[in-house]
Amino acid sequence: MNNKDIADLIFPDVTLTPEEIFKRYPKRNLQKDQYVTRFAPSPTGLVHIGNFFQAFISYNLARNSNGVLFLRVEDTDRKREKAEAKKVLYDVLGRFGLDFDEYQTLDGKDIGDYGPYVQSQRNDIYKVFAKKLVEEGKAFPCFCKKTEGKEDVLKLRESKFDENDEREYDPCRDLTYEEVKKHLDNGETFAIRFKTKNKGDERIKFKDIIKGELEAKANAKDFIILKSDGTPPYAFAHAIDDTLMGTTIVVRGEEYIASAPAHIELFEALGFKLIDYCHNPLIYKLNEQGNRRKISKRYDPESNMMFFIENGYPNDAVFEYLLNMISSHFEIWRKNNPTLNWREFKFKPNEITAVTPIFDLVKLNDISKNVIATYSGEQLYNNWVKWAEEFDAPLAEVLKGDREKYTKVCSMDRDGRPKPRKDIYNYKMMKDKFHYIFERPVSNFEEKEKAKELLDAYLQNFKMPTSNEEWFEDVKQVAGKLGYATDNKLYKENPDAFKGNIAKACEFIRIAITGEKDSPTLFNIIEILGEEETRKRLSI
Ligand code: GLU
Repeated sequence: MNNKDIADLIFPDVTLTPEEIFKRYPKRNLQKDQYVTRFAPSPTGLVHIGNFFQAFISYNLARNSNGVLFLRVEDTDRKREKAEAKKVLYDVLGRFGLDFDEYQTLDGKDIGDYGPYVQSQRNDIYKVFAKKLVEEGKAFPCFCKKTEGKEDVLKLRESKFDENDEREYDPCRDLTYEEVKKHLDNGETFAIRFKTKNKGDERIKFKDIIKGELEAKANAKDFIILKSDGTPPYAFAHAIDDTLMGTTIVVRGEEYIASAPAHIELFEALGFKLIDYCHNPLIYKLNEQGNRRKISKRYDPESNMMFFIENGYPNDAVFEYLLNMISSHFEIWRKNNPTLNWREFKFKPNEITAVTPIFDLVKLNDISKNVIATYSGEQLYNNWVKWAEEFDAPLAEVLKGDREKYTKVCSMDRDGRPKPRKDIYNYKMMKDKFHYIFERPVSNFEEKEKAKELLDAYLQNFKMPTSNEEWFEDVKQVAGKLGYATDNKLYKENPDAFKGNIAKACEFIRIAITGEKDSPTLFNIIEILGEEETRKRLSI
């Protein structure tokens, strides 16, 4: 009895061969420089920024090379899979509009010829390759009780090898046909383990596109390739899926470097060509003490991609920020090409940063301000309404109730200006930013009496201005009469001769109308508020 007999004994139903499976997955008809990349998330109930970062890198590599991007849902780890998790994944990807060439729809239809694109539907495929490895003596059934733990393995090490021995050989690796049969006859379940050919003292070199050549201890562990429930852990599923699906570049987090030697040995054993790896650095954050730590689901709301949606950041701002983290060339490119879409920025796999990116909300906000500054008032209004419809329904009603008014609000210091105001970085902040449009502000004056004198005088002669110039002339007249300098040069030469300069007078009016020392052009605000409301605000 040989390995083939053991394979037939444990996989009686597996009749297909790897060759037959390969026929279903023909080689892709692409040039060498057209990358096939993928996003392979495990649905966990949220999309982490670190995973999205990888998805976005893969997206760009595929798009920039006229290649293919596919989505593969890695849902074999059933314990981790929550009921709604897959829906959440699709929802978030959809919100960001990352379009995949190949994927499975939520209702189970495969788009593309390399499916199924959901791992839990691929168990039959994994078994074919596992059987093949068993036949070739490169894998074996393991009946250890705690087969997913290490206990039995460690026991063996202590008894057979000396202390420094790195081998983690499993006790079941040399079971005979008869022994296997006995276990099966007893009704025992089994996992399939890979049978490493290494002795524990080998080292291997492998290439990483981002990090260059890496060296590590070779794998010397009989690791599991099929769990007792028939599902594959990551390593096995990855080798088979990415090979069959024709992936040419795997972008994954650098936490996978540690297991890369095992993956490499597995690829070899399966007779597969190794795929190019880009192990990207994980995203970190600075804590209050200025120390770096991994951005975490637990402490950092911005680790969840929904944070950006809920706060109303434009997708383009998020993408531009990610590109900043991906490539040190992006910022300069953006400066030199202020009007081009970020999609025009191309980078090669070896240009992906090897430096740990530090997430910085202030930087994102700056980028977002620039992105929002490119919108017309009407665009901004539409985006604001769309955001509010989901996250602030009463606000959405107000905004939709007077489209003209709120489009004007959004247009202030924006439409027709070569340098629009850059003070909005997300839609959530806009209600606060424009609070004086929604309700009469509480105005605090440092010099209340002086303010009242000016405001009374202004109110007495108040007529609705028809232009910014007219508005300013009116203020100048009133202020001049009260002893304010209307010429800044004169004021500077002799400030004591005046009650203040014209800017001071404008500030009083601004505070009365908006409650703020800084606001968009007051004339526009007055126009939006109308005469009656303006008069009310001027009388303090
Ligand atoms: N499912 C794995 C993860 O989410 C995929 C890693 C990979 O991209 O290969 O970490």
